[in-house]
Amino acid sequence: MRKNIKLFVVIFFCLLPIYSHAKLKVLTTTNNLKSLVELIAGDKVDVESFSKGTQDPHYIEAKPSYMVKASRADLLVSIGLELEVGWLPLILRGSRNPRLREGEEGHFIAGNLIETLEKPTATFSRADGDVHPEGNPHFLLDPLNAIKIAEKLKFKLAKLDPENTSVYEKNFKKFTSDLTLRVKQWKKRIKVGTKVITYHKTLTYFYHRFGIINIALLEPKPGVPPSARHILGVMKKAKTEGVKLAIVENYFDPTVANRVAKDVIGLKVKVVPVSVNGEPKILNLFDLYESLITSVEE
Ligand SMILES: [Zn+2]
Repeated sequence: MRKNIKLFVVIFFCLLPIYSHAKLKVLTTTNNLKSLVELIAGDKVDVESFSKGTQDPHYIEAKPSYMVKASRADLLVSIGLELEVGWLPLILRGSRNPRLREGEEGHFIAGNLIETLEKPTATFSRADGDVHPEGNPHFLLDPLNAIKIAEKLKFKLAKLDPENTSVYEKNFKKFTSDLTLRVKQWKKRIKVGTKVITYHKTLTYFYHRFGIINIALLEPKPGVPPSARHILGVMKKAKTEGVKLAIVENYFDPTVANRVAKDVIGLKVKVVPVSVNGEPKILNLFDLYESLITSVEE
């Protein structure tokens, strides 16, 4: 018996250094959140995203492999505002990991930290098919919202992994100063009042930050496919307003936008990535914002 205890003590102390230096396992619901974690945590954590950059984050399959990943994670970073309502609860239930439950230390909900745009009115009904019931959840496409979230994320990472607090702090400072400078430069490239049409309300916060006016949406409501009548209305509006650009998020079908462009002289359709890894060359949030600015400025 004594021998066994001795052996146990030896094994325990041999393994201790491995566990004490184990990296924090972080999961994110989107690739944009993953990029934010990487920019603040560098190589101090292991981070993976459930959704790919080429997928509509409203509709992701709750795969059993995601549940296994969630069962081993220390921290989950989600968007909230019901973006993941159709799939994240299933993953969390399947993971049986109490740390990641909403309200627990291991679940960071970015959407709770920002002022949402397009808050629903009193007449709103989910039965309308609107997938933005708590306001627009695509807030990370405003670079300044990314800074707001990064600040709170830095504290969360430091709390769960105090050993690397100074790294998170240093990375956050660099991220903030680099991005603030880039926003100033990006603002100079966009003509305030530039008019666009978009498919879904994905770029609302981006447009808001850079003074771009979204004249019409190809979807009558977020998550509701366009009807023939709605498309006619969009064509009329585009002509009246003299819109020159239609932006389609690259996980939506551009057919409707192309149909509108046939009718509206001078309207150009651009299919754009709206997420990190939405195209192979978009490796982080800086690349993503740069690519969006390029799409609108030309
Ligand atoms: Zn949406």
